[in-house]
Amino acid sequence: MDFSLTEEHIMIRDAARDFAQTELLPGVIERDNAQKFPESLVRKMGELGFLGIMVDPKYGGSGMDAISYVLIMEELSKIDASASVMVSVNNSLVCYGLEAYGNEEQKQKYLTKLATGECIGAFCLSEPEAGSDATSQKTTAIDKGDHYILNGTKNWITNGGRAEVYLVIAQTDKHKGSHGINAFILEKGMPGFDIGPKEDKLGIRGSDTHTLQFNDVKVPKSNRIGEDGFGFRFAMKTLSGGRIGIAAQALGIAAGAYELALKYSKERKAFGTEICNHQAIAFKLADMHTEIEAARMLVMKAAWDKDQGNNYDMSSAMAKLYASKVAMEHTVEAVQIHGGNGFVKEYHVERLMRDAKITQIYEGTSEIQKIVISRGLIKG
Ligand SMILES: Cc1cc2nc3c(=O)[nH]c(=O)nc-3n(C[C@H](O)[C@H](O)[C@H](O)COP(=O)(O)OP(=O)(O)OC[C@H]3O[C@@H](n4cnc5c(N)ncnc54)[C@H](O)[C@@H]3O)c2cc1C
Repeated sequence: MDFSLTEEHIMIRDAARDFAQTELLPGVIERDNAQKFPESLVRKMGELGFLGIMVDPKYGGSGMDAISYVLIMEELSKIDASASVMVSVNNSLVCYGLEAYGNEEQKQKYLTKLATGECIGAFCLSEPEAGSDATSQKTTAIDKGDHYILNGTKNWITNGGRAEVYLVIAQTDKHKGSHGINAFILEKGMPGFDIGPKEDKLGIRGSDTHTLQFNDVKVPKSNRIGEDGFGFRFAMKTLSGGRIGIAAQALGIAAGAYELALKYSKERKAFGTEICNHQAIAFKLADMHTEIEAARMLVMKAAWDKDQGNNYDMSSAMAKLYASKVAMEHTVEAVQIHGGNGFVKEYHVERLMRDAKITQIYEGTSEIQKIVISRGLIKG
């Protein structure tokens, strides 16, 4: 067993750290306040290869492994989780979904643009009545021979307004249940495809979250991903990898808050000494560091499983469950260590605390991760 990173991994991590410090940090508070999408940074992230990290270079990607992906996600998330969720969705839901399950024509047409950041993608599964229970799809896709007609609503869609390519899950044959669900590639501007207003959120306020509406949208059959009825399996397989990205996001949020808290505790004085010398604060730091390191091990293990071609359904669920819990708990502690300063925007930790919460909700809530893990255990 080797816990050390390769030279290439260290280089990639350092490049992401440098980008986060020089490009994401300036303006992160203003973007959060104004709910502003980090528009100017999309092109730069595309140039650095952050939008198609694991995609084969023949489709414009960086051809890196999942370990590189989580290293990049951790560094970006330490500073700006709104930018990192855009990266995560584009990489592990949209690019991966197309590369693993799309046909050659679909990859040539869409994947190359998505992997380079020429455009970005969105993954559309959730609906007002189908969140955790994703099999209850109400969006319909009626087979009309050479095309489908889509009707319905998707909500909470990350990159919803900014994306140009949308992977949309819809029910074709209700009687077949989850086997009657399909996945489609939609393009912005298709007649009948409307984008609702941006959500006003607690955290990741710079990310672009919208409701989408489909009214008789005509989608060519060539835009269906995989065989008829493959859509639900497509969504579950894709989300399994997506959870590695969100676990790395949670890890980055926790690690970012911890680094700020450690630094602050060495500078702030109370009762004649730096507050890190008070055991109550020192023990908080010890717990934070230990649990963040444990979360990092789970995140790395899930990424390693993916790189090795192992099944990663359980390891990604465990990584997301634990890393998101650590993110929530330790961002609260980071605020506490900052005292009153923790409660104001300029010290960053209050934003990290607000951002942490979503990691326990999207791409499967913590309760759903426990269902995935316990089912895996019982099945053996
Ligand atoms: C900011 C944001 C961005 C998002 N981005 C996307 C996106 O890009 N694409 C997309 O498709 N979706 C996206 N989502 C949707 C997200 O994945 C769902 O919100 C999430 O899956 C939960 O679904 P729900 O909100 O309907 O909650 P519900 O399913 O109604 O759950 C409510 C509560 O009940 C619990 N619960 C439900 N069923 C069970 C059960 N069987 N056992 C135990 N507890 C249960 C849940 O854990 C939760 O605590 C996003 C959401 C947000 C807030």
